[in-house]
Amino acid sequence: TIGMLAIDKKGNISGACTTSGLAYKMAGRVGDSPIIGGGLFVDNEIGGAAATGLGEEVLKTVGSFLIVELMRQGKSPQEACEEAIARIVSKPNSNYKNFQVGYIAVNKQGETGAYAIHEWFSYNVYQNKENKNIKSDFYNK
Ligand code: ASP
Repeated sequence: TIGMLAIDKKGNISGACTTSGLAYKMAGRVGDSPIIGGGLFVDNEIGGAAATGLGEEVLKTVGSFLIVELMRQGKSPQEACEEAIARIVSKPNSNYKNFQVGYIAVNKQGETGAYAIHEWFSYNVYQNKENKNIKSDFYNK
């Protein structure tokens, strides 16, 4: 999945995500990417979030919507991403060692955040004419 979040000069937020789905997926599987609130959610008053990884797990927690709602309640993008991952890994019988989920988020102020279950989730931030590749922090240390 490629997830993108952008803020223009006027502060308007937009987002997009594309996916090829999962390898060996069932015919007809939809995944989280095309479901608003699952793989992507933007509220222009608050911020946006996007997901990658096992879409079923993202959908069970409506992950991108959850992150935007947590930011609405005052959490930073980083805190919101971490809480959304915590929701997944703390479910009873969570099988999180066997799948990855990663989130990115941005708020109306242009602050960014990201968090994943496992290592090797990196993302790019282009801000103030500078492009940075950042290795996301992760849960399973
Ligand atoms: N989230 C996508 C899906 O479950 C997979 C991916 O991240 O590539 O369809």
